[in-house]
Amino acid sequence: THGHENIDVNDNIKVVVRVRPPTEREIQNRDDCAVVVDDAMHMQVAFPTQQGPSTRRFAFHGCLAPDSSQSDVLHACGITQLLDAALSGFHATIFAYGQTGSGKTFTMSGREERIGLEDYAGDTDDGIVTRAALYLFEQIGRRRDGYTYNLRASYCEIYNEGLYDLLKFTQQQLAVRWDSGKGFYVPDLYVRSCNTLNDMMQVISRGMAHRRMGSHELNLESSRSHSIMTIHCDATPVNSQNPEQGVRYGKVSFVDLAGSERLRDTKSTGDSALKETSSINRSLFTLGKVISALADNQPGLHVPYRDSKLTKLLMDSLGGSALALMIACCSPSATHVEETLSTLSYATRAK
Ligand code: ADP
Ligand code: MG
Repeated sequence: THGHENIDVNDNIKVVVRVRPPTEREIQNRDDCAVVVDDAMHMQVAFPTQQGPSTRRFAFHGCLAPDSSQSDVLHACGITQLLDAALSGFHATIFAYGQTGSGKTFTMSGREERIGLEDYAGDTDDGIVTRAALYLFEQIGRRRDGYTYNLRASYCEIYNEGLYDLLKFTQQQLAVRWDSGKGFYVPDLYVRSCNTLNDMMQVISRGMAHRRMGSHELNLESSRSHSIMTIHCDATPVNSQNPEQGVRYGKVSFVDLAGSERLRDTKSTGDSALKETSSINRSLFTLGKVISALADNQPGLHVPYRDSKLTKLLMDSLGGSALALMIACCSPSATHVEETLSTLSYATRAK
């Protein structure tokens, strides 16, 4: 029993929307609220048109209202099922999508200052990554299913189509290689063995600290970068003549995407073709194409994995039997309603 029978491969991309609470500034400015969550799966957005105010309704696998907690996110998104799948040898990807300031990093990683504390005990603001680490260690300590589990983790960043290791912080770009057996891989990416929860908490805090350092010291805009933390779950059969046989290599990747407003960089910067190719976020753009191709689910349809770094790296974790979850984050405020509508239509295409 591998748990495979629990997974519905026809529904392998799930989309959950999370509306964050208004910020101090939005409250001070008395911004109108434009987004209402009706129930666990439905929401509506009010927006102005030339003919007057209008509303549009949306349905997703899950809709999380501004008062939802970090642990509500786990339940609504079925995160533990994805983690169980990774322990059973499947590949899973969790994306946070949305405009800058919409709550992607908060949802994925929680409050940065909480992370990396010694003797980690858990906090209500913990994001998905920390809760996932806790859950995985709890599971591998408890499971008596004939396998020995080993967890390994890497953390990297894509900036302007360059790939950087967030655990060995250098300005050196990492090369992505192709191998007909293992697909796209990154030979020099540091993958740390994590024997304890603390090891993994260190990976999380270093990766996040380096991402922040990059934006301060190297003057990179973090809203342009994608960060990818991957946890590998290796399961080796305990009683096997040949230990190489029957090893399962599951993994789960947590992707904090560049701000979705970057997709429209071209529109705001003008029309020259040169500018277009240099300023558009190729990875974000290609991810959209890959996800809608997969969501269309037409046999023989070309899926353009090779068109960007991000989709190359995630090729074995998107499509096929892999499970994907997109958490579309949005602001409740009327000021941001245009971005919110574009986030929700992107999310609708992914369903
Ligand atoms: P992004 O990563 O999409 O740019 P952040 O996660 O940094 O956005 O969120 C922007 C601000 O809003 C941060 O100060 C963050 O702490 C706060 N925030 C986001 N989502 C929530 C939430 N659900 N509850 C409380 N504060 C939030
Ligand atoms: Mg962020």
